[in-house]
Amino acid sequence: MRIVSVDPFIVHVPLGGEVADAMSRLRVWGYPGLTIATDEGIVGTGFTGTQGHGDTLIRDAIAEGYAPLLLGQDPTYIRALAERLQGSMLHWVGRAGVTTMALAAVDIALWDIVAQAAGLPLCQMLGGHKVETTPAYNTDGGWLHLSDDDLLASTSRLVEEGWRAVKVKVGHADPARDLRRVRAVRRLLGDDIALMIDANHRWDRATALEWAPRFDDLGLRWLEEPLHPDDLPGHAHLAARIRTPIALGEHLYSRLAFRDAVDQRAVTYIQVDVTRVAGVSEWLDVAGLAAAHGLPVVPHAGDMGQVHQHLVAATPAATAIEYIPWTRELFEDPITARDGCVLVPQRPGAGTAMRPQMFAAYRVG
Ligand code: MG
Repeated sequence: MRIVSVDPFIVHVPLGGEVADAMSRLRVWGYPGLTIATDEGIVGTGFTGTQGHGDTLIRDAIAEGYAPLLLGQDPTYIRALAERLQGSMLHWVGRAGVTTMALAAVDIALWDIVAQAAGLPLCQMLGGHKVETTPAYNTDGGWLHLSDDDLLASTSRLVEEGWRAVKVKVGHADPARDLRRVRAVRRLLGDDIALMIDANHRWDRATALEWAPRFDDLGLRWLEEPLHPDDLPGHAHLAARIRTPIALGEHLYSRLAFRDAVDQRAVTYIQVDVTRVAGVSEWLDVAGLAAAHGLPVVPHAGDMGQVHQHLVAATPAATAIEYIPWTRELFEDPITARDGCVLVPQRPGAGTAMRPQMFAAYRVG
């Protein structure tokens, strides 16, 4: 099999309103990515995830940096192609960020091709672990822009829908308001629903050391990204002083970065994101690292779960998938929840194929 064409794209899926966390306000979810066509008629799709900014930079990295190195190659030699791309001249301008997210898109498209060629869902091709459902948690009821009343209404709606684990954003200018909100949610949920909080790296060390311990009595499953993502010693320092486990990883770009986080005891819940590290291949390496240390993998959903529904289903160390149902209408095989779990996908491929009508409607540029 040979690669005959590489076609970069940008898709923006509207969210129907503005959504906020402590660092971002967004109105679309962006998928800069590519399709890779082969001489056997199989077309693979891959993408990374954005908040609608920086997409052209990622598209250009694919088009100028990586597409010329892919044409004519055998797409089944994924690891060999990854080495070839990582050794391209783009290494000079970035080993994290735009270039890594572009590499992720390429790698995901290649795995999509190989899974389609095998006639298997990617989760089974990678050694299938979960059979029917994957434990999941819902992030889509806990946004920072919600009023206190709306936050309580949306989290109780999720519980009525069957969710057994929900995440709430913190990171207001006044941390006392965060504490009041999370306390109120905990009172509402009772002790049987798992509750996580996410500061989106809004706090500095002083704020975290003062306020994080005050959440310890709420029985939270994890505190996510309290500090700047690169401040691993700061996370380790904090982790040693609070009972709530720390989750991070959505801003780490390589297995080496995760190795450092694990070595420094900065993290318990490994939130490796396939759209952020260099794709499925690097994700599997990080999951292996986590497994060797007995740490749970709970990926951040830069893909809104489309690829992660396969990866989590294939990986014993992966204990839950994040569910945010923003882009389901775009996909042929959208991530699907039932009774607080996500169904293990059955369709051959990596879950990335887009419905032509929706692709045309949401394509940018
Ligand atoms: Mg987060």
